[in-house]
Amino acid sequence: MAYDDQNIFARILRGELPAIKVYEDDKVLAFMDIMPQAEGHTLVIPKSPAETLLDLDAEDAAYTIQIVQKIARAIEKGLDAKGIVLMQLSGASAGQTVPHVHFHLIPSSIHELGRHAATMGDTDKIQALAEKIKAAL
Ligand code: 5GP
Repeated sequence: MAYDDQNIFARILRGELPAIKVYEDDKVLAFMDIMPQAEGHTLVIPKSPAETLLDLDAEDAAYTIQIVQKIARAIEKGLDAKGIVLMQLSGASAGQTVPHVHFHLIPSSIHELGRHAATMGDTDKIQALAEKIKAAL
């Protein structure tokens, strides 16, 4: 399917919508999820316009996963996370709600995860968690 450049993450990438960012370079952006399933729920997205993991070229996929690892280490250190769930949904049938490929890093256990994209988090609390992650990068 053609990439929808009006999706929320494309608009965040263009600076049209705000996001609490923890890391950015020329290829990747990491920012806090606004409906976190656990404290510190972070999203890592490649900047290239790909809808699902299957649409992402191999070089971008390889680079993005390196940043996923970097952010996971910062979450572990900054938030003293004991375990991190890495989740990636490809396709609406898998439950993907935003059609720009992204990796969820959720400091939690698969047995404890809350409902997906269901409840808005507290912005001040999310901002404070982002500062701890950034300080640990
Ligand atoms: P998906 O269902 O596509 O795998 O995950 C999309 C994620 O994006 C969900 O966890 C949801 O909470 C989050 N999300 C949806 N809209 C926004 C937004 O405007 N800003 C941020 N930071 N996260 C969002």
